[in-house]
Amino acid sequence: MGKNWISDWKIIPVGSMSITGYRLYRIIGAASPPPGITWSIDPDGEYERKRIMIGGSDYGEWPVPTTPGHICVFDPRSGSFGDVRASGLGWLYDDVASCVYRPGSESDLSIGLRIWHEVLHCMIGTGEPDEMTQSPGFVTYLKESFGTEDAWVLQFEADPSRYAHDSGYQKVFYKYLVEKHFWDEACAPGKRPPLQYLVLDMFHALDAWLAANLKKLTMVGRGH
Ligand SMILES: [Zn+2]
Repeated sequence: MGKNWISDWKIIPVGSMSITGYRLYRIIGAASPPPGITWSIDPDGEYERKRIMIGGSDYGEWPVPTTPGHICVFDPRSGSFGDVRASGLGWLYDDVASCVYRPGSESDLSIGLRIWHEVLHCMIGTGEPDEMTQSPGFVTYLKESFGTEDAWVLQFEADPSRYAHDSGYQKVFYKYLVEKHFWDEACAPGKRPPLQYLVLDMFHALDAWLAANLKKLTMVGRGH
């Protein structure tokens, strides 16, 4: 508990969950934690299954890491976890967390922000990551970052609760929290990604371009 920067987070894929190194690289890219923090996969990371009761409600059985700086990622549709009722939980005294991920139906950004949210709970040691819509400091930060007359900023300021689950604002809010609590760490440089990931990125971009343009090209081709 209390504020503590942990620069190296290990993700434990639970059960049949599989996250490749490249998938994780894309997830990190989508959520954009600062470069000085690393997330890596620890397939052998230890965890226990625990029955979770919160305020008299049964949250089912959650995988809970046994070592600080670890976060379990599990698919609630498999492994008889029961009705887990939440997308993520953090145990702030132990610096561990757990969150759900439904591969195939959730984007890199969704799971990235979910992991990042729990990591921030652990590092800041409070419920502040849940308070985006009640944070005057965040509105000031939005104005400083995007301008006082920016439409996207003004619509948030007018009715924050409407955007409680908006990933666009969440991503900026988490950046604000890191800069607020861990300014020096937020500015530290990181490692460069492996070259093969950058090459894969290029193929993905080319693939997306082809998917968008192939139809157009074949139509042109037929015309001749
Ligand atoms: Zn939370």
